[in-house]
Amino acid sequence: MCGIVGYAGSRDASDVLLNALSGLEYRGYDSSGISIFTQNGIDTVKSKGRLQELASRLKSHPLPGRCGIGHTRWATHGEPNDLNAHPHFTKKLSLVHNGIIENYQTLKNQLLSQGYQFESQTDTEVAAKLIDSLYSGDPIDTIRQAQALLEGSYAFAILFADHPD
Ligand code: GLU
Repeated sequence: MCGIVGYAGSRDASDVLLNALSGLEYRGYDSSGISIFTQNGIDTVKSKGRLQELASRLKSHPLPGRCGIGHTRWATHGEPNDLNAHPHFTKKLSLVHNGIIENYQTLKNQLLSQGYQFESQTDTEVAAKLIDSLYSGDPIDTIRQAQALLEGSYAFAILFADHPD
């Protein structure tokens, strides 16, 4: 089972998210990652393996900011590796996902025909790009539209680049 967490507040989001994810380690996972709103927009660090790997990557690539999302992955679609680790992101958003998108292949084919490209084997990247394709500037409205198209069992935490708060 994966772990999924989001934070917006006055503390360093990276610290809060790492702490929260370590509290979820008992659920089991194969990779982890976080996205944070930094001064330069959303930035992401992720890694296969233990949270220790993520923490050491964050030492050489710190993500200063006060709002972010984090994930520990239990792979269902695609092997455990850096590319398949969450968050999955586009220019507009970054997303972490707990669960399975059952109709991901149908949606992926539709998105491919719209010109989207995919770098991972996950069902999650399909959800991220579906929401990107529907994005109207209103996150809640867009997520409702996506919900009508997504089949399966899922929880998301999402950052929208144009909603840094
Ligand atoms: N189905 C997604 C994946 O394989 C999410 C798995 C999870 O809940 O960690 O990446």
